[in-house]
Amino acid sequence: MSTDTLTRVLTRHDRCDGCGAAARVAVLLPTGGELLFCGHHARKHAPRLRELGAEFSPGS
Ligand SMILES: [Zn+2]
Repeated sequence: MSTDTLTRVLTRHDRCDGCGAAARVAVLLPTGGELLFCGHHARKHAPRLRELGAEFSPGS
């Protein structure tokens, strides 16, 4: 297990998986997958993602 992905820095090249806006939050799934969300979609999906045990890594 590594926590490297939790400290990743989001750049302008990282896009929200929901709408394509600039990503503000990286979400690390228990399965090892990663999702990127803008602030809007991070809030929208947060409850379900927390249920799944996902870790949120705030962007800049
Ligand atoms: Zn979005």
